[in-house]
Amino acid sequence: MDRHHPSLSWPQIREGELRVACHLCDALQESPRLREGDAAYCFHCGERLYRNRPHSLAHATSFSTAALVFMGMTYAFPFITMTTGSMSTRLTLVETVAVLADETNPLVAACVFFFTILAPLLLMTGLLYVAAPLRHGIAFPGAVTACRMYQRLEPWSMIEVFLLGLIVSLLKLGHLARVEYGIGLWALGGVVLCTAAALGGIDRQELWDRLEIAQRKAEPE
Ligand SMILES: [Zn+2]
Repeated sequence: MDRHHPSLSWPQIREGELRVACHLCDALQESPRLREGDAAYCFHCGERLYRNRPHSLAHATSFSTAALVFMGMTYAFPFITMTTGSMSTRLTLVETVAVLADETNPLVAACVFFFTILAPLLLMTGLLYVAAPLRHGIAFPGAVTACRMYQRLEPWSMIEVFLLGLIVSLLKLGHLARVEYGIGLWALGGVVLCTAAALGGIDRQELWDRLEIAQRKAEPE
């Protein structure tokens, strides 16, 4: 039963408490329904079980959209231009993978492609595909699969590790060549911030609850 405006609070599937298992110590427990902004903690180890985040769907939708726009910019614009003498080299994220594949190990190139391009892209697309229609109480076809994919990919998106490594390398390269930072680098920073904000904007438990409600609504009585 949907008891609240969908974009304002976490609707309830059923009356009473939630039965949840702690993801740290596996303790099964009954936990209360929460008011906006509150969090529930494990009675055994104190780990946070879930939170009722304010404006969760609006946050997830807007930040995942912004992350996808920034991703497009990191693919289109170079993030560094290196100049040594008369030679100048410009690199975009995609070109970095191509250079790694040609000049070093293709396995490293494949890892960089997966962790910094494919995983973040699928992660944000999956979240947007699930969260945007849920704002209107609708679940698109395959939303459950998209939600599972989004949750499995979450630990594998490592664009922030790439950005940190890139900054350290650029500081060291500064002694050898003249390095100019391009739009792609600032956009990469935008991707990192917006991805973190999108993932932190909505609780998994809430996403599954909302998905179940939308699917029940779509089923004929
Ligand atoms: Zn626990």
